[in-house]
Order: sequence, then structure tokens, then C-alpha cells
Amino acid sequence: MQETLLTPQPYIKVALPVPMRRTFDYKVPKAIAVRHHLKPGMRVKVPFGKSQRIGIIEALAEESQWSDAQIKPLSALLDDSPALNEETFSLCEWAARYYHHPIGEVLFHALPVLLRKGESADFRTETWWFATEAGSQTQLDDLKRAPRQVEFLKAVQQHQNGLSQQVVSLLGLAPAAGKSLEEKHLVYREQRQFLKMAETHAHQKQVPPVLNDEQRIATDHILEHANQFHVSLLDGITGSGKTEVFLRVIDKLIKQDKQILVMVPEIGLTPQTLKRFENRLDTDIVLMHSNMTDRERLDAWLLCRQGHAKVIIGTRSSIFMPIKNLGMIIIDEEHDASYKQQDGFRYHARDLAIKKAQSVNAPVLLASATPSFESLNNARQTKFAWLKLRTRAGSAQMPTIERVDLRGQSLIHGLSEYTLEKMKQCLARKEQVLVFLNRRGYAPTLMCHQCGWIAACDHCDVNMTVHRKANKLHCHHCDHHKALVFECPECHSRELFTVGEGTEQVEAALIPIFKDTPILRIDRDSTQRKSAMTQITQKIHEHDQAILVGTQMIAKGHHFPNVTLVVVMDADAGLFSADFRGMERTAQLITQVSGRAGRASKPGQVLLQTYHPDHDAIECLCERSYEEFASENLQERIALALPPFYHQIIIRAESANEWEATQFLKNLREMLMPYCEAGIGFVGPYSAIIVRKAGQHRALLSIKSPQRGNLHRLTSIASQWLEQESRTQKIRFAIDVDPLET
Ligand code: ADP
Ligand code: ZN
Ligand code: ZN
Repeated sequence: MQETLLTPQPYIKVALPVPMRRTFDYKVPKAIAVRHHLKPGMRVKVPFGKSQRIGIIEALAEESQWSDAQIKPLSALLDDSPALNEETFSLCEWAARYYHHPIGEVLFHALPVLLRKGESADFRTETWWFATEAGSQTQLDDLKRAPRQVEFLKAVQQHQNGLSQQVVSLLGLAPAAGKSLEEKHLVYREQRQFLKMAETHAHQKQVPPVLNDEQRIATDHILEHANQFHVSLLDGITGSGKTEVFLRVIDKLIKQDKQILVMVPEIGLTPQTLKRFENRLDTDIVLMHSNMTDRERLDAWLLCRQGHAKVIIGTRSSIFMPIKNLGMIIIDEEHDASYKQQDGFRYHARDLAIKKAQSVNAPVLLASATPSFESLNNARQTKFAWLKLRTRAGSAQMPTIERVDLRGQSLIHGLSEYTLEKMKQCLARKEQVLVFLNRRGYAPTLMCHQCGWIAACDHCDVNMTVHRKANKLHCHHCDHHKALVFECPECHSRELFTVGEGTEQVEAALIPIFKDTPILRIDRDSTQRKSAMTQITQKIHEHDQAILVGTQMIAKGHHFPNVTLVVVMDADAGLFSADFRGMERTAQLITQVSGRAGRASKPGQVLLQTYHPDHDAIECLCERSYEEFASENLQERIALALPPFYHQIIIRAESANEWEATQFLKNLREMLMPYCEAGIGFVGPYSAIIVRKAGQHRALLSIKSPQRGNLHRLTSIASQWLEQESRTQKIRFAIDVDPLET
């Protein structure tokens, strides 16, 4: 320590949130150098171009490639200790290398928004009021003339442990009255750290059920390996009691004072999930998700860093939470695509979780009813322990799956007569039906009967979706919308008609057929308001009979005990996708939705409406299982040299002009040719499936290799070229490592 004070490092390398794969050198003024011990991870304010920017110290350096005169001094040091702890910092450095993304952008991504803006990395404080000796003895009558002071003093007297500013506002008390009382020496004030957790209910915790054999074996295995790096894949069918396994494991680990990070998909973070954790765990739980304010996120982040928060439940970005004493990372629904960021810094939270856990020697638990092919492959190769739960917990049974052949059938808004009959029978038993259609809005297409005109987006190569309730045409790819038209803009005919169905149409069609049944729609349109989802789930639990119509939002996480019939309206969607992952996703979605049927004591049934009842995938899912489906498809992936057997990196380019993006990638491929080691293969450049999106033409170049090493060496060369050339040619590019979208 003493030594560093005497010989301060003359330079710091600062990472700034700019799209450049480099750091910037600054000098440390003497006044700062002698008083502070600078470390990587601290925030600084530095001159950059004509403005002042906030940056993060990436490293300290004795020398610089620039002359001393060229290097500017930093303007201010913002932290006494690193805002990013060592472990998060090295995770970011690893991620920047692996994803070929600028270090500054990665480090800033890891910081809460308020810290990016320069806010202090301390808990905020709030005022607390206390009664003085005299104040506790004062008779309220003595203050009769000042009723607001009476009110205030009364409250302070009643709260012997102090009255926080929050409670002052909650009770509608006047802080001015408090100040008058302070002048009379009846009360005094103190600033205290503001600590806010998720609501923890103090009531009696629920008694856990007795584990079944499979659950017990899984739990024992996980706990046996709880003090070291170890990855387990908890591959358990829907309703097999995976969450119960989490709760057991967490309960054990928090008693050893460890912190547990539980990751959930963006949409799976339901109040139901939180409640279940709170009902069982007697500990401090914090949340981290996109519905929170920046301040709430910073509070959660600080609680986590200090070690106060024992269980952290969060979505993708919580992988960067600084955790003081990480005991385990659990990733629920590990197959979910929302763990991969699809723009900017395109990281995969599951893969980073494994890296993070490895660096602190902690275990990882991946859980899903439909594991990703990547994880299944790792389990087969025994890189992950494969823990299977193949029976439903408690008294619930797996639902039966039946195919409904749509060929030649007359359909009522996409539903066959057979399906409608089954729905009636289910409702007559006072049970609930779930109708799944992964398309929101009224209809995906609006067409003219006279001339064939189709309402297409002005900015993308897609049709606009009709939203009848909102009276809008909406592009689901770029968010462009306009008023619904009733006359053809080409031939002025008024004979416009819709093709296909969305959830809004199905809801409208079911109302007259099932007059006395509540029909509830769950999709992104119906749940926009913050409390909407809670209200809908409440209604579902209030009624015996009900029909739920929804998109993939209903496929995830929810537990509706009275749903016994699930209708998959369009099982064929995704079956013939141009994306090689289309089939994997369809199978996951169908399996997850089917899993909503019969989760309690009543048996469930699933109807798959299809035009291809004999298709291999449909047949396999109905007659056999997701596991067998996956095993067959993995064989195909080997034969076709596709991930997870090959590693893939996609370079994406966008230009306003039709051919520029493609030409740009052709040039890149040319440039890379001499550097290609054995095993490297290119596909493309080719156009994206939807070529034009938001006015930009999109092209891709895919690079594959059976080894990661040579692929990453080549991509490093590519990234330098891309950064340079994109600036001169004004082309936007992205490097997508282990892409999920093609
Ligand atoms: P999953 O997470 O695999 O979908 P859950 O953990 O949500 O499954 O369990 C499904 C239902 O079964 C829940 O209502 C849960 O309370 C119950 N359950 C789980 N394990 C048991 C058990 N061992 N005995 C009885 N009920 C159980
Ligand atoms: Zn027309
Ligand atoms: Zn569009």
C-alpha cells in the first residue's frame, strides 16, 4: 500500500462506452495519485473529444504508446473502491473477448444505469425521526394549537424504533411539523441507509412436501457437489417438481450464508414465482428485471454486492450482478431464447453463468422440461450431470396428446368442429380450456378481393397485422403502425378481407359460441398495463369454467390447476421454417404448452390441430417424448455439421442500399481467405429471411468450424477489419457468436 502511494502508476487505461475495441490512456494528476489507490473497476471522469465522459479503469500502466504530452489527465475519480468487483470485471473481460465486443460497452452493460450516469455507488439514505427524552413524555394536549404537530408527535411516539421518511409520506404527515418539533427539541432526525427488499411476508412459512424418489436423488446429487464447480442439467417433464428441488437446495445453501442467483426468462418472472419462493424461504430476496425503475435496480445491485440479498431472482442481465458470496446459479427454463441478447452485446446468459460459476468454484443448475440441444449434448458427453425427473409430482398425471387432422375440415375461425365439441365437454365438467396460438392481433394479413393488394409494411418485407380493437395495422417487426383501412389504396374497392387468425380474432369468435363462459386473452396487447397480468390470473383462479386464449406468454411458468384441455391451434407453425432451429423451437413450445394441462389432480388432454399429422416431429412428440425427438434431431445435426456439433459465428451487416451489405460481406470473406485454418467453412453471404427490416437491407455471413480456437482467431481478424471498414463505408455490422437466429 505504502509503496503504491510513493510510486503511483503514471497512466491508466480507460474503457469508454464507445463502439471501439480499445481503451484510452490518461494521466493521473498527483493530487489524486497520492490520496487514492487506483484499481481496475473504478469509475473516472475523463475528457473525450469535446466532452467529458464517464469511463472505467481497465488497467494501470507504467508506459503508454503515446507521448506524455499527448495524454490528457483524468478529470475526476468517482469511486473509492471498484464499482465492479474483481469477479464481475474479469467476467466482462472474458465476455468482451469471447463475443468480440468492445470492452467499454461490455463493462458499461454490467453497471446499473444510474452508475453509468455517474451516480454514487452507495446506498441512498433517508431521514428517520425519533422522539427525544422530552418528546416521549410530552402530553399531546400541550400542543393543541398545532394539530399537525400533534399528529406528527403522536406517530413518532408510537413508532419507538423510529419513523422513516417512507412511513411519514404513507401516513400523510407534514415534514414541516416535524421540523417545528425538532426546534422544540421534542424530536430529532437521523440519516439512515435505505434498504428495500422485495416484500417478504412475515407469516408462517409453508411446510415442504415429501420429495419423491427422483426429486430426492436429484437434490442429493446437487447438494453433494455444492462446494465446487459442477454443472447439473435437471431435465424434468412439466410439473415434475423442478421448482421444489430448487427450493430444497436453496434452503440448505442459504443456511451456510451463501447467496443464490436464480435466473428466469424475461416473461417467466411472474408474481406467482416470487410468492412461491417467499412462502417457503425465510430470507431476503431481491428481484432484478426490466419492470423496475433505475433506482430500484441500483438498490438491488447494492444489496447484492454487500451480501444482504441471499436470493436474487432476475432475468438475463442479472448475470452481471456482483455477488459477494455466490453459492450457486440456477437457470430455470434454460432453453429459453430470452437468455440470449439479440442486439448490441449479444451474450448468452447461460453460457456466462457457467463461466462465472467456474471462476468462483460454485455449481450451476440448469433446469428445463425441454432442454436446449446444446445442454443435452453436454449432458450426453457427461460434461453436465444429467438428472432426470420423468414422473409428475404429487398426484398429477401427464396429459394425453391427440392429433386433430385439419385436412378437408370446415373450420370456424381456425378451430375444427371436433375441437369445439371437446371444449364444450371440458367446460361442462366445470374445467378450463387453454387455446394456444402464437400470433397476436386479429389477423396476420389484410387483402383486397378485387385486385389482390396486401397491406405490407413500408419499411420491412412483411405483411402488417390487423388489430381490430385498436383499429390499426401494425408491423410486428419494426413497430410501424397506421390506421386500419377499409378501402383498397390500389383499386378503391371496399371488399377487403383478412386471411389467417390471431388471438384477438379467436377471442372474438369464441364469445358468441360460449356465452356464459369468461374468455380471457393473454398476449402482449392484453397485458400492457402493469397490473393486467395479475388481474387476469386472479380471474382465472376465481372461476371454475373459463377459456384462456394466448400466445407463448401462457406457455411459460404459469400454474393453472383447473386447466384440463389444451388446444394447440396451429401445431404446424415453425415445422417448415428456413431456420434449422425452427423444429427444436416448435417442439419446445408444443411440449411446454401441453404441460399446462392437468397439472393438479384432474387428468389433462391436449389437442394438436395439424395438416401434417404424419410429420415425423408431430408423430414423435405425440407418441413418444421430447427426449426422443431431441435425440433424433441431434443425429441430423451431426450429419449436417450444424451446432451444437459445429461452432458458428455470424457476421451481420445492414445497409440502406440493397446490395451494399452483401458486397461488404463478400469483401470481408475475400480478406479472410488467406487466414483460414483447416476446418473453417463459410456459408454466404446470404440475405436474412426477412431481407428488409426497418428500412435496412440485411445480409449475413456464417463462419463454421468444429473447433472454437481457429474460429475465434479468424473472428479477431474480422473484427478489426469490420470496425475500420464499417466506418468508412457507413455500414452497420454485428458479430454474433453462437447465434440463435439465422
Ligand atoms: P415444475 O417446476 O417441474 O413444473 P413444480 O415444482 O412447479 O414443477 O411442481 C408442480 C406441482 O407439484 C406444484 O404444485 C408443487 O407444489 C407440487 N409438488 C412438487 N413436488 C411435490 C411432491 N414431492 N409432493 C407433492 N407435490 C409436489
Ligand atoms: Zn384492390
Ligand atoms: Zn416494419
